[in-house]
Amino acid sequence: MTTTIETIRRQVSDLHQELVRYGLVVWTAGNVSARVPGEDLLVIKPSGVSYEQLSPENMILCDLDGNVVEGDYSPSSDTAAHAYVYRHLPEVGGVVHTHSTYACAWAARGEAVPCVLTAMADEFGAEIPVGPFALIGDDSIGRGIVDTLSGHRSPAVLMRSHGVFTIGKDAKAAVKAAVMCEDVARTVHISRQLGEPLPIAQADIDSLNHRYRTVYGQRPAAQ
Ligand SMILES: [Zn+2]
Repeated sequence: MTTTIETIRRQVSDLHQELVRYGLVVWTAGNVSARVPGEDLLVIKPSGVSYEQLSPENMILCDLDGNVVEGDYSPSSDTAAHAYVYRHLPEVGGVVHTHSTYACAWAARGEAVPCVLTAMADEFGAEIPVGPFALIGDDSIGRGIVDTLSGHRSPAVLMRSHGVFTIGKDAKAAVKAAVMCEDVARTVHISRQLGEPLPIAQADIDSLNHRYRTVYGQRPAAQ
């Protein structure tokens, strides 16, 4: 149990550096969390600590109501939203939040990113939807994420006038979705400058998404 939590602390700390590497965050904005498998616990970034100072030791262990179980700092101010997602979506093992630039530009307009690239069909299987406007401080952000992503293929939601939340089977998958979300938000934005992107037929989106989820990548035996 202690070993598991130590491993997750290291994973969550390391994954925060991926947000920096891919240019998804500025200052102390953004956060990654992971569920502790089999426990009603999560590990998340401390609030207001710079990315250079993040380490496995200063990650915060919380229960799924967002209360601190172990940690010297206050947890991220988005902890309640992450905790809400873990309470309501048991298959989710990781949650990421960013204010990445292009995705936020879509969120500021309250506009979903249309599924007009094969890479989007692969990773998101649909448009990247917009969730409701919600203020920090209660369950409304978490509820908006869960309500928007339940029954949706996309692992990413653009919370209106705010930013990106992504979910995944683990924290790495949620980070990947955040990286891909910003990438396609940028490309589709650029495409829009000179015209209307061409739609991809729903049957083709379905086929691409199915192939990506079931065939793409290394088979387990080859890993
Ligand atoms: Zn935010």
